[in-house]
Amino acid sequence: MIGLPRLEIVTSESKDDYLRERQEHKAKYQKRSRYIEVLSKNLTTSHKGFCAVCRRRSTFDVTRNPAHGTPLWRESFNCQRCGLNTRMRAFIHIYLSDLKGRVYITEQVTPLYRWLHARVADLEGSEFLASAPGEVNQEGIRNEDLTSLSFASNSFDRILSFEVLEHVPDFRSALAEILRCLRPAGKLILSAPFLWNLSETLVRASVLESGEIVHHLPPDYHGNPIDPKGSLCYYYFSFDLLDVMRELGFANVLVHEYWSKGYVYLGMANQTYLTAEKP
Ligand SMILES: [Zn+2]
Repeated sequence: MIGLPRLEIVTSESKDDYLRERQEHKAKYQKRSRYIEVLSKNLTTSHKGFCAVCRRRSTFDVTRNPAHGTPLWRESFNCQRCGLNTRMRAFIHIYLSDLKGRVYITEQVTPLYRWLHARVADLEGSEFLASAPGEVNQEGIRNEDLTSLSFASNSFDRILSFEVLEHVPDFRSALAEILRCLRPAGKLILSAPFLWNLSETLVRASVLESGEIVHHLPPDYHGNPIDPKGSLCYYYFSFDLLDVMRELGFANVLVHEYWSKGYVYLGMANQTYLTAEKP
């Protein structure tokens, strides 16, 4: 019998925790780094591996960052069968079995939403359409502003938010709203640009009281399924995000780094999910 590929998940509570792990397994990470370096140079437009979602071998389409040519380790490697990219495949792989009860995901027009909608019984999704809170448009898309959700308190067992928080200038209010809407013992599963090697969250842009946007670094726009111009990225987060979440009242705040050669979750220290619970 041929075994399934190996999946590695390293869970940390803090940067110290994370650094200790890197130090204790230095040789492993050096080997990984060399593998990634060689692969980056030799990768063509596709790469073979095992899709955990399709549960079979597949080919993954590779996209490179147009500015510096680095493979998009998280946002590409789309499986040619299911179409899902690295972080979506990994999310389903790691967390699908944990999606219990009523689930809210802060996206609704994405391949991941469509995949989950077909399989998760009680799933609510939304996009930021800047219409009335909770309003559902003619296409069936619900509007929600993450800093002022229209849901009742204690409504959800799981809240999923992927690559949204970095686009919310007042991300603390967004996290507070998520906490309010979770039921006790409910769980948030979150992803956003998370750079372990920063000393603290990098503020790329901020919004003045007048509403004017000030750029502290060259503007970084991410793909937005409902806006062809994309969304401005305000933050690259780091471990201080965990402290902010704890201060807001979340418990069990953890960052998980996942990696797998066989499942094609690659790159160096950039494949992460955060989890946190409402006490
Ligand atoms: Zn697949």
